[in-house]
Amino acid sequence: MIRVKITPNNKQSQLQYIREISGVNINKCIQCTKCSAGCPASARMDILPHEIIRLLQLGQVEKIFHSKSIWNCASCFVCTERCPRNIDIARLIEAIRLTIIRQPGKSKFKPDDVPGIIDDKMPQQVLVSGFRKYNR
Ligand code: SF4
Ligand code: SF4
Repeated sequence: MIRVKITPNNKQSQLQYIREISGVNINKCIQCTKCSAGCPASARMDILPHEIIRLLQLGQVEKIFHSKSIWNCASCFVCTERCPRNIDIARLIEAIRLTIIRQPGKSKFKPDDVPGIIDDKMPQQVLVSGFRKYNR
């Protein structure tokens, strides 16, 4: 039997969904800001990585969903490496992106768009990363 998981669309269950698919315990964060200090994409962020964690702790997912930071994160894992509490922030941000694009009608990147933008030499990873990052 195929089990289909429906992405939640209310604030509380979205937060729970992010926690579940990321496996990250946001309560371990001590707001030391080491993640933000090392982030190479911070200049293009309106909410810094440590602030994303704080907003999640406060249950304010809406602010994060409307932030450009989520889409400017380069998934470089510097934040994850620097965190003294072993919080995988890069994974958490990826979970936030997935939560947004898995909502019905939220992805602007359609399967029909794909053939026109790929060529045979393009690594599959580029396609998958592009799908995740440039759909908004
Ligand atoms: S480095 Fe870790 S503990 Fe420090 S603010 Fe970032 S997530 Fe929180
Ligand atoms: S993974 Fe994203 S948030 Fe973390 S340091 Fe890299 S660009 Fe910044």
